[in-house]
Amino acid sequence: MAGIDDLPPLRDVISRHGLAARKALGQNFLLDLNLTSRIARAAGDLTGTDVLEIGPGPGGLTRGLLASGARHVVAVEKDARCLPALAEIAAAYPGRLTVLEGDALALDVSAHLTPPIRIAANLPYNIGTELLVRWLTPPDWPPFWQSLTLMFQREVAQRIVARPGDKAYGRLAILAQWRAEPRIVLDLPPEAFTPPPKVSSAVVHFTALPAPRYPADPATLSRVVAMAFNQRRKMLRASLRGLVPDIEDRLLACGIAPTDRAEQIDLARFCALARNVAAEAT
Ligand code: SAM
Repeated sequence: MAGIDDLPPLRDVISRHGLAARKALGQNFLLDLNLTSRIARAAGDLTGTDVLEIGPGPGGLTRGLLASGARHVVAVEKDARCLPALAEIAAAYPGRLTVLEGDALALDVSAHLTPPIRIAANLPYNIGTELLVRWLTPPDWPPFWQSLTLMFQREVAQRIVARPGDKAYGRLAILAQWRAEPRIVLDLPPEAFTPPPKVSSAVVHFTALPAPRYPADPATLSRVVAMAFNQRRKMLRASLRGLVPDIEDRLLACGIAPTDRAEQIDLARFCALARNVAAEAT
């Protein structure tokens, strides 16, 4: 079967550039270009779109994104060893790949991107949740991105799409579902990666909603949800006691029994509570 591009197979790229995987950098590479093309397709129609990729490594997903028609890929990579391999990809797609060397948690990439912007990444697991929370919690909405297509440990993916009553339901589900629509689009076994990680993985695709599902101040909602799930086995009248003095009345006013636990409360009622206590709890 013809390849997705005229570049060499990733195994050759890795051996030629000496890219032995480093655990400290969360390096579990995807070497199957059919798979990286599938992930790129799950990101949506990339034509006329800039794509931000975190952690391109040897460039398997980068090649998938470019072959799928992305207008411009901006890739942030911390491991300088990967830069020569990425330069070869940039040469094969003139003017369409910008590689920035640095830490994705510290670098401001906004000057390099033009809307519409999508984000796609096989993330290093150690920074995946932190980056996701940043992308989901800007003060204003809609955010700078249209969609996120991200690899997570399957357990984290399940927390993102969990519904009230699920064991995995918590802060991450609320943050993800309040202003976006997350869906698990691909499940991957450890053997899909080189080297294989200990756990299974899943790709989650998030579409940014034009506006939040329910109105609420982001900082207040974050605070309420963090307190409620910090002691998830406790009744809400206890876990939220420090929020406002008359918490039981506030809960009742929002259709929540003071004896309910956080895991039973849906997004609509968390937002109602955030609105109800906004004046005092910020
Ligand atoms: N995208 C490649 C693939 O699918 O084969 C590599 C994925 S690997 C799971 C994660 C990549 O993120 C590695 O290349 C690693 O060097 C890079 N990385 C780790 N920490 C980073 C950070 N703080 N900022 C940017 N890149 C980072």
